[in-house]
Amino acid sequence: MSQMPDSPPRVAIVTGAARGIGAATARRLATDGMAVAVLDLDAGSCHATVKTITAAGGSAIAVGADVSEDDQVEAAVGMVIAELGPPAVLVNNAGVLRDNLLFKMSEDDWDTVLGVHLRGTFLMSRSVQKHMVDQRYGRIVNLSSSSALGNRGQANYSAAKAGLQGLTKTLALELGQFGITANAVAPGFIATDMTAATAARLGVTFEEFQASVASQVPVRRIGEVEDVAHAISFLASEGAGYISGQVIYVAGGPLC
Ligand code: NDP
Repeated sequence: MSQMPDSPPRVAIVTGAARGIGAATARRLATDGMAVAVLDLDAGSCHATVKTITAAGGSAIAVGADVSEDDQVEAAVGMVIAELGPPAVLVNNAGVLRDNLLFKMSEDDWDTVLGVHLRGTFLMSRSVQKHMVDQRYGRIVNLSSSSALGNRGQANYSAAKAGLQGLTKTLALELGQFGITANAVAPGFIATDMTAATAARLGVTFEEFQASVASQVPVRRIGEVEDVAHAISFLASEGAGYISGQVIYVAGGPLC
């Protein structure tokens, strides 16, 4: 469905948007002309992202919710509809790491990571899809990872990120008839607080870690949050309506 020139801006929800890739994506979708719900665990932590968007003339609100809790998800989506209107774009970006080798990984490490990435994406998508169906238009973009291919110390995270690829393809199959696409973006190494925490776990400085990763990447640099936001912006755009169920690796080169 093509948007009329004088229609209100499309509404996007970006989860985990207080910082990192989510914040960059919220800024980018606002620049693309969308009204953006900046969602994170604590609404207060979203204010910097919201302020950056509104200072540039865009439209954004802060929404606090834990994406792994159904009642909080329902309340958050209700608030977005009341303040901005029904969502047309959903970016499931919220994420956590609980890295450990399998023999040291606790059940809590497993449940927390699967809960935020997989259950959170399921709950958000289930809640938002009915509003997209009503509009006969929607764009869902899920954050997978190069770790979906397997990564030492990340049994929980790689299982969640591989699971997200299956979920994405199924959403594409079920929702396509309603004008809704679902795709995944799978970043390689992106410089954020998350990868800074990985460097600390490995006992190297973030600078050393970045230099070592960059030397292995075909384009010879590490990824920036804007690299991922750019791919998400494309998949969330109206013109990407014939691309669905795909996984785009944003990793500076091909991965096996
Ligand atoms: P960050 O850790 O910088 O940001 C993640 C955000 O998600 C934080 O603001 C965090 O809040 C929020 N969050 C965590 N749990 C929840 C929850 N239950 N409900 C709502 N919000 C939550 O991560 P990145 O920006 O690096 O990563 C963003 C996404 O991209 C993640 O899904 C990640 O797995 C994926 N990714 C990242 C890569 C990278 O190299 N950085 C590579 C591949 C994939 P709080 O600060 O309060 O914890």
